[in-house]
Amino acid sequence: MSRRLSQLAALPVTELKGVGDARAKALAKVGIATVLDLLTYYPRRYIDRTNQARLADLDVGEEATVLVKVVHTTARRTRNGKSLVTSDVSDGSGHLRLTFFNQPFRERQLKAGTDVVLFGRTEVFQGRRQMTNPVVDLIGDRTGRIVPVYPQSEKAGVMSWDIARFVEETLRRAGEFADPLDEPMRRRFGFVDRTVAFHDIHAPESMKAAADARRRLVFDELLRVQVELVQRKRELERTAVGVTHVVGPGEAGGPLVERFRDRLPYDLTGAQQRTLGEILDDLGRGHPMHRLLQGDVGAGKTVVAVSALLAAVQGGHQGALMAPTEVLAEQHHLGIRQLLDGFTVPDTDDDSLFGGAGLDRPLRVVLLTNRTPAGERRRLLADLAAGSVDLVIGTHALISDGIEFQSLGVVVIDEQHRFGVEQRAALRAKGRGGAVPDVLVMTATPIPRTAAMTVYGDLDVSVLDELPPGRTPIVTRWARSELDEAEVWEQVRAEVAAGRQAYVVCPLIDESEKLEARSAEETHAELTAGELSGLRVGLLHGRVPAADKDTVMEAFRRGELDVLVATTVIEVGVDVPNATVMVILDAARFGIAQLHQLRGRVGRGADASQCWLVGEATTPDGEARLEALVRSTDGFELAEVDLDLRGEGTIMGERQKGQNDLKLASLRRDREWVVKAREVAVELVDADPGLDRHWLLGEEVELLLGDDDAEFLLKG
Ligand code: ADP
Ligand code: MG
Repeated sequence: MSRRLSQLAALPVTELKGVGDARAKALAKVGIATVLDLLTYYPRRYIDRTNQARLADLDVGEEATVLVKVVHTTARRTRNGKSLVTSDVSDGSGHLRLTFFNQPFRERQLKAGTDVVLFGRTEVFQGRRQMTNPVVDLIGDRTGRIVPVYPQSEKAGVMSWDIARFVEETLRRAGEFADPLDEPMRRRFGFVDRTVAFHDIHAPESMKAAADARRRLVFDELLRVQVELVQRKRELERTAVGVTHVVGPGEAGGPLVERFRDRLPYDLTGAQQRTLGEILDDLGRGHPMHRLLQGDVGAGKTVVAVSALLAAVQGGHQGALMAPTEVLAEQHHLGIRQLLDGFTVPDTDDDSLFGGAGLDRPLRVVLLTNRTPAGERRRLLADLAAGSVDLVIGTHALISDGIEFQSLGVVVIDEQHRFGVEQRAALRAKGRGGAVPDVLVMTATPIPRTAAMTVYGDLDVSVLDELPPGRTPIVTRWARSELDEAEVWEQVRAEVAAGRQAYVVCPLIDESEKLEARSAEETHAELTAGELSGLRVGLLHGRVPAADKDTVMEAFRRGELDVLVATTVIEVGVDVPNATVMVILDAARFGIAQLHQLRGRVGRGADASQCWLVGEATTPDGEARLEALVRSTDGFELAEVDLDLRGEGTIMGERQKGQNDLKLASLRRDREWVVKAREVAVELVDADPGLDRHWLLGEEVELLLGDDDAEFLLKG
């Protein structure tokens, strides 16, 4: 009988020889509770004994990995009381001295006779070769050509060789593993089978065998995630009843959509036409849309989103746009109201009398957030329920209980990674008669396609991969020191003198909007008294009352202000083509996506624009972020850098509550396999929706993406 993973998951590690309660407790600290946990506790790397440098051959000044035996270790204190451990190691070809500062535990760790693998730079000190504070991996007295090195925790008392020993026993006792991929599928991708894969990931005969095993297991991980996503997507398509929107006649998308397009002062880009086409196509169908609109800053997502909302309105439904924060909602409201200024819709109440003879009423766009005063809120709620509001813009307050729509048809979610599972689910319950509204998720932060496939895998994806014409690239510079800063203000003054405008973004203060507002006020005061004296400088932050915010924005838009000092409230929606300078103070505090988004506020007109990142970077990551922004204006490229710097854990982490199922797979390194896993998942699920003929795969999906993990996949 072949082993199933579910069987191993049911066995506590205490089933293994040599694992008593104390050991089990230690293993639990590194997340190993069951035999399956142990089996999927993969080596961090491998030591190839036949391929290590010999001590005799080490080059001074070079980094190398060596496999050695400890001869002798001593500990003492330096004159100023610091711990100093020195160790003499040998590999038969020669000797090496190791010196460890401030690592007193090395005395215990490096007992005479211990085999260790060292990674470090060889130096010469007092005529002898040595390494200072090298990386040390203990491998125990293991034999074999390739030695796996497991993540170990000396604190928890879990050593690499213990794991290796327990895994060996597990593999021996488990025997053959049942394989969820059949022979033809394995052949198609050149995969080894499950049994070989588990064996070779832990105890490979060669580095190639380890790589083959990894590839197979990576695919398994990705496939499980994709199967789950595809199943949910299909389930939704099968069961949910949506709204069939009016998107005709003809190709144009219907009367309102067409009229909106006609009154825009520009033509849609090819990408806008294509993505809008995809959306309208979904909207015209009976099952609910569930689509991601991905596009770089300034790609023109707003008009696409507004067109989708209007498609709802033209069939007599309502549209809602939800932003992650109140301020962003206010900004969207401002921008969209402006875009729809003077726009009218046929008054359907009069249609019956005049046969649709064209009695129009103004399209009604309202803002509803937690800041909306109680009285106004009550009125708006009544109007939403009665259907006299066409479009509503707000935050998740929109889906709080007690908000009823007459008929919610399309929902646009500008999410920027901040929108939760529950919110989306709640929103979907707002349709009329149980119909599920169509949902369009916009992401202003492009995430790499393969990551999107995993993170948003249950959504269809439309990509706006083209910027509107006539943009001049933004030149980005980093003013590291106060000396450089003088040039920043000089440039601001020069641009203002030439009739253009500038933004100054104040330092980010995460903890408190109040503190952030205060700091913005201080910056404003300092600049108006100093570097920017004589200029017309406005101030905008989260605590400015909505009405005043409108006034300030309007003044800036009309060119009555030269400079706008603001917090990140201007992150989206602000659109003043005459603004050509963006100054971001203390830039290293912002993330890549946010900096890119802020920078996108300039470069919107034909004039050359510049962006200044001001201030020192206090960490290497901060430095790398700012350098990336100076180097590139391509959001997708920056997203890749972001992924590199932060690791996929963060991307997944933002969306996923439970533990990451991807133990081996990397959304970066294994991107080609993400695509293939997706393909296979679609094939399998479409041919066998309930996975009846692939029950083992189904069992593993359930097992390894348990309730917690499935949560993040459930977006909407
Ligand atoms: P995004 O939300 O994708 O960052 P916006 O929707 O704010 O981008 O649009 C950015 C700018 O481009 C706005 O000034 C908008 O008016 C303008 N714009 C959008 N589409 C076009 C187009 N097809 N041609 C010219 N300008 C456009
Ligand atoms: Mg936008």
